[in-house]
Amino acid sequence: MQTYLHALLEQRKNTALYRHRVIHNSPQTPLLVIKGQSYLSFCSNDYLGLANHPRLKIALQHSIDEYGVGSGASHLVTGHTHIHHLLEKELAAYTGCDSALLFSTGYMANIGVITALMGRHDAIFLDKLNHASLVDAALLSRAKMIRYPHNDMQALDRLLSKTTAQHKLIITDGVFSMDGDIANLPHIVKLAHIHDAWVMVDDAHGLGVIGETGRGILEFYGLEVPILMGTLGKAFGVFGAFVAGSTVLIDTLIQSARSYMYTTAMPPAVAQAIRTSLIVSDEESWRRQYLHELIGYFRAATTHMPLIDSVTPIQAIILGDAEKALAVSAALYQRGLLVTAIRPPTVPQGTARLRITLSASHTKKQINTLITALRDVLS
Ligand SMILES: *Cc1c(COP(=O)(O)O)cnc(C)c1O
Repeated sequence: MQTYLHALLEQRKNTALYRHRVIHNSPQTPLLVIKGQSYLSFCSNDYLGLANHPRLKIALQHSIDEYGVGSGASHLVTGHTHIHHLLEKELAAYTGCDSALLFSTGYMANIGVITALMGRHDAIFLDKLNHASLVDAALLSRAKMIRYPHNDMQALDRLLSKTTAQHKLIITDGVFSMDGDIANLPHIVKLAHIHDAWVMVDDAHGLGVIGETGRGILEFYGLEVPILMGTLGKAFGVFGAFVAGSTVLIDTLIQSARSYMYTTAMPPAVAQAIRTSLIVSDEESWRRQYLHELIGYFRAATTHMPLIDSVTPIQAIILGDAEKALAVSAALYQRGLLVTAIRPPTVPQGTARLRITLSASHTKKQINTLITALRDVLS
């Protein structure tokens, strides 16, 4: 085994696909300390700058005094506290759905909901750029998996017409995690109606960020879908995820979503920090407004760069091959900036890129530093 694995790792290194972890020593703020040096980071999904917010920290600390650190069991045994229960009600209210169910991570939420609803005689339609957890969930469900080209509604229409499956489920990211563009949800909903299909949206990067009051893609378009998945470790700055929908859907998931049933509930103190995050993200709506101001500012200054069209905090600069993306990321690192190079298989071959994420915790001055450095390294 050692020899075999070693050869595979060497192969990765030779093709610029080897991954390593950056070890830092700081809270999730724009400045990260690495080996005693401070770096300006554009990598975090902490879009509203809540991950290190004093009110969230205090909520967690106080709740630990009251509930301890661990939940001790799964939700169906003795892990489901009053705090979890209140948070689920508040998430339902936040999203305008009847019910919501907490999961420990977004990955597990996707696995749970998709495997609970779909089986051998069904078909799942996925955007080609959907998040890996959705692809894994579809595979695990044993339903027929049909992937359509990114946001290609004609292709989706054609593929839906051809299927004879019992149940059809269309799944899309709300905001695409590596490109930052937004799904054509109005068209998807229309096709679902025509072809009698169900719709699930994974709004990991949209919730808290887009829509008039940050309610995500559904508010952005003024739409409803039967299944909404949201995460709590990105804009909300904490950890965890949820699925929202009808009470019948949520009850079904409690009965049969295996990644819900067979795992330890998140610590109650974490749930309490999330409850506070929902309040703070509303009360401090300036964070969202300021974030969108920064996005506009950044885009106006980078019109000459190969940027993907995006009104979200995810701004991707396409560079082509993995070597190039790594070299540019390394050059930025030399200048004290952290910008992740995203390579295949996370993105399609030939579309390796820099993935810049902006946050309400960035200052204009920091954005200027980024723009200047990008001009230097890309010229
Ligand atoms: C991050 C992400 C997930 C996974 O959520 P976690 O809570 O980090 O496990 C799922 N879907 C999308 C689109 C994501 O970006």
